[in-house]
This record gives sequence, C-alpha cells and structure tokens, in this order.
Amino acid sequence: MVRPKIKRQISKNPEQRCFNQNNNNLPAIKMVADEYEAIRLKDYHNFNQKESAELMNISQSTFHRILNSARKKIAKSLIEGRKINIIETDNINEPNTYHCKKCGFQWNNNNKKYTECPDCKSKDIELLIEE
Ligand SMILES: [Zn+2]
Repeated sequence: MVRPKIKRQISKNPEQRCFNQNNNNLPAIKMVADEYEAIRLKDYHNFNQKESAELMNISQSTFHRILNSARKKIAKSLIEGRKINIIETDNINEPNTYHCKKCGFQWNNNNKKYTECPDCKSKDIELLIEE
C-alpha cells in the first residue's frame, strides 16, 4: 500500500520565482574566489570536507569556515535576488594544475602528486602547467 504523501511545511512560497541576477538594483554580494572554489568542490563535485580541504591546501576548519561563508552568500543572493560578483584571487596555485581528460575536473595542489582524478578516479589526467 502506498503511504499517503505528507505535506511538507515551508514558511512561505519563494519571493524570487526566477533566479535572475539582474532583476533589481540591490548591491551585489562579493564572493571571493576561494568561497567559489569551496562550493565547486563540496557542493558541485560532492567531495567530502577532508578531500576538499586537501585540494585547497587548507585545514578542514578553514575550509568549513569558507564554505559556510559562501553558502550564506548564495542564500542571501537567492532570497534577496541579489547578484553575486565573484572576485578573482591572485593566490592560485598555478604550478601543478591537473586536468582530468575524462570528466573535465580541474584541481591543483602543490603538496601532493596525483595519479588519478579525485572526482571520477580516472587515470587519464594531465598536468597543465609544470613547475
Ligand atoms: Zn575525472
């Protein structure tokens, strides 16, 4: 027997029905590139916190702080309909940038040598910029 569907409770319907970053004149939210990277690794590619922190070469507690900050900004953007401006950084670890030929994931970490893609585990990876 199919269980009756329980109505989920939400406080109100979303005020922003369409996510359009140009729909008002509120000041943009500034997101730094490391916040963007934390979202990319943890929420988009589904790495766990330990893996994500390792890929960014930071401690798990620092990663957690950056991720929370990024999520707050995304929530603010979604609820208030604000733009997010992503601020570029100059602390990109360029020397060892890896690229997975199978899934397209790109990452870098100067403290570790990789033989497989941390995302899809493919061994078909390449080093884009050598030291
Ligand atoms: Zn891959």
